[in-house]
Amino acid sequence: MYGIPNMKLEKHIIDRKIKVMEEEGVTFVTNSNVGKDVKAEKLLKEFDRVVLCCGSSNPRDISAPGRDAKGIYFAVDFLTANTKSLLDSDFADQKYVDTKDKNVVIIGGGDTGNDCVGTAIRHGAKSVTQIEMMPKAPDLRADNNPWPEWPKVCKTDYGQQEAIEIYGHDPRIYESTVKEFLKDKNGNLKAVKIVSLTWEKDAETGRMNMKEVEGSEKTLDAEIVLIAAGFLGSQKYVTDAFKVALDGRTNVQTAPGKFMTSVDRVFTAGDMHTGQSLVVKAIRQGRECAREVDESLMGYTNLYVQ
Ligand SMILES: Cc1cc2nc3c(=O)[nH]c(=O)nc-3n(C[C@H](O)[C@H](O)[C@H](O)COP(=O)(O)OP(=O)(O)OC[C@H]3O[C@@H](n4cnc5c(N)ncnc54)[C@H](O)[C@@H]3O)c2cc1C
Repeated sequence: MYGIPNMKLEKHIIDRKIKVMEEEGVTFVTNSNVGKDVKAEKLLKEFDRVVLCCGSSNPRDISAPGRDAKGIYFAVDFLTANTKSLLDSDFADQKYVDTKDKNVVIIGGGDTGNDCVGTAIRHGAKSVTQIEMMPKAPDLRADNNPWPEWPKVCKTDYGQQEAIEIYGHDPRIYESTVKEFLKDKNGNLKAVKIVSLTWEKDAETGRMNMKEVEGSEKTLDAEIVLIAAGFLGSQKYVTDAFKVALDGRTNVQTAPGKFMTSVDRVFTAGDMHTGQSLVVKAIRQGRECAREVDESLMGYTNLYVQ
């Protein structure tokens, strides 16, 4: 509801869908944290089947010196607080991180980082810079990426387009990472030190390894850093509570193409199963999972997933 900015997905669309589901008989219980204030055993006692769809919200952190500086936030915490404050009070409650007149550095060049770029700009940030480890993708399809394959080209999303319009340049700096967060004497973030990277192939394993380019350090003014460096799977306290097996990426494991977990009567779908992905995929998985749950209850199923 709150993680995706309102300018990208207006929440009356979600409210409308929730209303339809409620009319169909779905009960939503809010402010109930399963695995903390609602015990797994209680749910399994009261219900014949449980489907875990808790998303993949465990953020990847950046471990660089100065990480404890005041002014560093995880992207989803920043985006969630912003949307909630907007919807609850049109920002009057001030329960959000204001980037007005601040230099903002976003670590991570993906979709979540782009949402941070757009949000920081709309609050009136002084500057917005997005740091990306990977090289810039080509503007046009490479010869080894023909149609109908997914085009592996550089995408300039709405946040980056707004940055180009307002500040006159693309906010992204490629093949770079943050080496250090610099603080003032009160512990507030004042700058970040970044370094350029090159990618080298390991002759033995064939793997690409990144290497810092000597002497390439630069310092950027930054009072706010937003970490959008990816996600590390599902939250541990929920998977521990249900004792479900995990795969190597800490997503909830099932047999290929199936949705039942290693624990009897417990199923999973969406990001919690696949890792951070797309809304359309989560919807489809929800339907496929419902089909498998129906079959496990009835011995057959008439649910049809196209
Ligand atoms: C910033 C951001 C931008 C994105 N933009 C896009 C986009 O433009 N297009 C797109 O297709 N996808 C986008 N995604 C990805 C998309 O949001 C997810 O792939 C999709 O929402 C996954 O759906 P889900 O139901 O599996 O999990 P989620 O949507 O994450 O839902 C999980 C729900 O479970 C609740 N929950 C978690 N733990 C518990 C618990 N212990 N007890 C009770 N409830 C719990 C959470 O509060 C949440 O409501 C974006 C993701 C992020 C973070």
